[in-house]
Amino acid sequence: MTESSPTTTPSTCPIWCLDKPGHGIDDEYDDGSGDRLHRGPRFGPLEAWATTSADGRPMIYSVDSDGSIDYSTPAALRELAAAAEEAATWLEAHREV
Ligand SMILES: [Zn+2]
Repeated sequence: MTESSPTTTPSTCPIWCLDKPGHGIDDEYDDGSGDRLHRGPRFGPLEAWATTSADGRPMIYSVDSDGSIDYSTPAALRELAAAAEEAATWLEAHREV
């Protein structure tokens, strides 16, 4: 673990990560490297997350549903649309280009 590494490695978390500091690697590979999932903020039924890797690949960001989305009413769809807009704004502010 190097504290001075200029890139995000599996040993560090982005500042927005909501998991415990130093949390584990989620996918470990034969060469000893691995990907770590970092859970970000929630936007209604949506949750932002990203993965970091040991091999220097850029962080991969995404937003997933928690499965509670109700598609059956206009009000629920508008709530989802508002949550998606908030999530999109967060992604624009945090994703590495
Ligand atoms: Zn993390």
